[in-house]
Amino acid sequence: MDRLVRACYKKKSGYAFAKKAEDIAREYGMDHIARLASNENPDSLSPAALKAAEDALRTVNRYPDERANILMNALRAHYGDYHFVTGVGMDGVIETIVRTLVEPGEKVAISTPTFSFYTLAAMGQGAEVITIPREADFSVDPQKLIRAAKDAKITVLCSPNNPTGNATGPEVVREILEGIEGLLFLDNAYVEFSGIDYLPLMKKHENLVLGRTFSKVHSLAGLRIGYAFSPRWLPPWYQRAGTPFTVNSVSMAAAAAALSDTAHAERYIAQVRRWRKRFMEEVKYPVLSSDANFVMVDVSPHKSDAMVEELARKGVVVRSCRSFTGLEDHYVRVSIGDDWENERFVQVINSL
Ligand SMILES: *Cc1c(COP(=O)(O)O)cnc(C)c1O
Repeated sequence: MDRLVRACYKKKSGYAFAKKAEDIAREYGMDHIARLASNENPDSLSPAALKAAEDALRTVNRYPDERANILMNALRAHYGDYHFVTGVGMDGVIETIVRTLVEPGEKVAISTPTFSFYTLAAMGQGAEVITIPREADFSVDPQKLIRAAKDAKITVLCSPNNPTGNATGPEVVREILEGIEGLLFLDNAYVEFSGIDYLPLMKKHENLVLGRTFSKVHSLAGLRIGYAFSPRWLPPWYQRAGTPFTVNSVSMAAAAAALSDTAHAERYIAQVRRWRKRFMEEVKYPVLSSDANFVMVDVSPHKSDAMVEELARKGVVVRSCRSFTGLEDHYVRVSIGDDWENERFVQVINSL
């Protein structure tokens, strides 16, 4: 019955998960595995978030609040008077924004190499995907991006970028916002680790959306909840395009509580800052400078997949960068985890 499946899903492979490397580690008898492939916070969720989630579980016989008030109020209390949209992970937000704005055949422009889900979301909507390669040092040339993306409905830029780790400064983002006709989706999944503040741009530009997630610094990856700072005009249309009752009540309650536990986030941010520096100093391969909670390592002359497999056999699971379009095949991406995980990674990679 495969003939019933849309051609676009037959042409292009789906999202690349890290499970294969974990399977290899287990095959080699590793039970204590360093999980450094998915950029998660290694700490368990905030106790306040756990308590809020448990309380919310008692009322799951009822549909959640479709206005997501508990989360909207928490976001405004934390950040101030902005407009927000929420979704099932930031991935859900991306998918709904594409569905809200993009007619089949219209353009979505993506700065690459980057996170793969933008292309999958655009493709699912029948968009024409335009990719704009970054420079040799992975920086973004704003005028080159503007030329290629001028008439795109949505332009996607990830900052700090996954998998390269570098950020694009607010001045460059402002130049892009002023040069394009469509909307800029700035993916800020890792912004908490960067020290960069893009919020002043929100006040001045009607074509900017800042995508955010609870999956990384807030330790809620399994609850699948994300949000975005949105211009005022977008939320009513976003509601129409999205599924009703998108975000579940347990996730919303946990996320609202997690936002105010700043000590929980700060602890991991401090860990990230410490270890970004140590990785650059201690790993024998070149480690690219990063503004995120992971680093990209140039493992040449080895190939990405071969290096990932070697590390996995020794119980260290990292992400191969082979599947990132526009990237040469000799990089791995390594999340900053617990001390023992990071130490194990340094020790093992230096032995290869
Ligand atoms: C992890 C990640 C996300 C999405 O996270 P969700 O779990 O869907 O909230 C989005 N963008 C980038 C670049 C990411 O790395």
